[in-house]
Amino acid sequence: MGKKRRFGIAIDSAIAEKLDNIAKSMNIDRSKLVEKAVTDLIEEHSHSLGDHRCCGVMVVEACECRVVERFIENYRDIIVSYSHNHVEKWCVCTMVILGDSRKVRALHRELTATGSRVKYIPIAH
Ligand SMILES: [Zn+2]
Ligand SMILES: [Zn+2]
Repeated sequence: MGKKRRFGIAIDSAIAEKLDNIAKSMNIDRSKLVEKAVTDLIEEHSHSLGDHRCCGVMVVEACECRVVERFIENYRDIIVSYSHNHVEKWCVCTMVILGDSRKVRALHRELTATGSRVKYIPIAH
């Protein structure tokens, strides 16, 4: 990273306290932790904006096995690999994704609409 810029922000004191606790447990200062969190936020935000070729990992806690199987079939052109697991009562699927960001966003949106919990982590843009 380049030179630093200082700016003041006001956040809920309970959040500030949690932030301090995390920074302490990670043995880094608060600024470093906030910088890391904001970097992740910018990365995620830039994924949701412009169109690009996107690589990332999608984690799905599916409401139903058949749902996740159907999506894997329908989106196989952007799903490089996947792992479909049953852990206790949960159906958890992780997918490595590579393809047009519009299609990645469509997959994310449609899976979420089924009631599944979906988290997408962009890796490269
Ligand atoms: Zn992306
Ligand atoms: Zn399953």
